Amino acid sequence: MYEERPYLTERPDALRRLWDTCPRAGLLKASTPSWQLDRWKVVRDLIVGWYGDDRSDAEAVPELAENLAGWLDPVQRSVVERLFAGWRAIYPKDPEVAVDLEAAAVSFTDDDAGVELRVTPTLGLTYPDGSVEMIRLRTGRHGSGPDDAAVLGQESDRNVAFIDAMVAHGTAEQIIPPQDSDDRITQLIELAGRDRRVPLRPGVHCFGCESAPRCGQYPIPGGGRVFVSTRSIVVSKSQLAWVDTCQRRVAWDRVYSVPTDRDSDLEPGAGVSAGLRFHEMAAAGILSDDPNAILDDTTRSIEPSEAAELRRLWENHCSVWADDGNPEARTTEFPAGLTILAPGIHVDSRGRESTQDVAVTFIGILDVTGREPDGTPMVVEHRTGRSAEHAHLEAELYALSAAETIRRSTGAWPDQIAVHLHDVRSDPPECRRRVFDSTDLEAALGQLRRVAAVVAAWHPHDSLSPPYTAGPWCDTCRHRAMCESNR
Ligand code: SF4
Ligand code: SF4
Ligand SMILES: [Zn+2]
Repeated sequence: MYEERPYLTERPDALRRLWDTCPRAGLLKASTPSWQLDRWKVVRDLIVGWYGDDRSDAEAVPELAENLAGWLDPVQRSVVERLFAGWRAIYPKDPEVAVDLEAAAVSFTDDDAGVELRVTPTLGLTYPDGSVEMIRLRTGRHGSGPDDAAVLGQESDRNVAFIDAMVAHGTAEQIIPPQDSDDRITQLIELAGRDRRVPLRPGVHCFGCESAPRCGQYPIPGGGRVFVSTRSIVVSKSQLAWVDTCQRRVAWDRVYSVPTDRDSDLEPGAGVSAGLRFHEMAAAGILSDDPNAILDDTTRSIEPSEAAELRRLWENHCSVWADDGNPEARTTEFPAGLTILAPGIHVDSRGRESTQDVAVTFIGILDVTGREPDGTPMVVEHRTGRSAEHAHLEAELYALSAAETIRRSTGAWPDQIAVHLHDVRSDPPECRRRVFDSTDLEAALGQLRRVAAVVAAWHPHDSLSPPYTAGPWCDTCRHRAMCESNR
């Protein structure tokens, strides 16, 4: 009997992202919130329902929203309704245009490798002149990447155009295959066949990784098990600092992916970009035998005033480092942290609620780790911004992260850990050193357990469950407009 050969099916952009970051991501999953995907599904259902409804929009739209998005909390529902309106603005109903709700996927198949690269449009529109638009519904900020575009470029029918419908912005953008499409496809086929069980490659991508509590990079002090069904929430160092001020501010980013008010505010300002540049330069320079070459390289391509500022920050770093007795640096920009299990709400597929452990993973990127001249393990945070203080609970997270990293190799926390805060912006520069012994580490762990319990208690389906606390800090909050209309 003929047996169809099993093919490995891969999504091109996702496959590339995996190999550009950490191939182990997702091998051992936990259950991470996926509100962007959940909203995408509801918007797609609304669009499908709308095309199947002959009534006027005034009649059909409110009823569809109630039937298909009524289960969402008011914040998620308003986001979804805005995205649905974005679609209707781009593609108003036109009786002359035929709608194909089951648009076929575009695939590139390599029989020898047993790999299929597949990209699936959301729906197709056929115009009276015979031209066809295959449309991908995009509810976030990003459209199709070059690898998806390369596979879509394999479509042989010249009447077909592929479009990203960016419904949050109300715009449609044609997806253009890149010049190097053939090379990309060859690389992707090769990547699909590679063994993903390589050493972990931690980085900023860990903040969005569904394996964070299980991969071993962010261990559980005292042990504990995380299962596929365990809800997992990752909290960064900067978000940790906010939980005790306003829970909603953190929860809307980390759990519910509520879109922010002002995308443009995410662009770094001039002062911020000098700081980022210093962090990048220092990360390479501190571990290099010839840091001046790196400094020269970096300053060559930037504005003279910024170059002068970068040199000043680097000199300040060197001066604090010398005052510290020239410690031994071991790593720079090292992602470290820990996972804490705390009881939270679990909702099963039938909507029944129970209390189960939630894995809360705290991650910080340690600017420098190493040893002081007497061998004491140390963590250094470079401060280039206005505030020369540690953020709330930052030193505690650094000390515990370093202690847990050491425990992974030695089996025990070290007797003490020194956390240095190097303010390289001030003249003269300054080092503030805080030593954590085992009592301090236990106290720090107690603080993180307390925060983990707060985070775990947020209801997975209700973005209004984390309380808000308004205050002067709202001025810098990216959720302000949406927050104010939901108080
Ligand atoms: S958390 Fe980071 S290191 Fe661990 S699997 Fe995910 S991306 Fe890799
Ligand atoms: S606007 Fe203020 S109250 Fe609302 S989430 Fe932001 S910080 Fe919290
Ligand atoms: Zn120091």
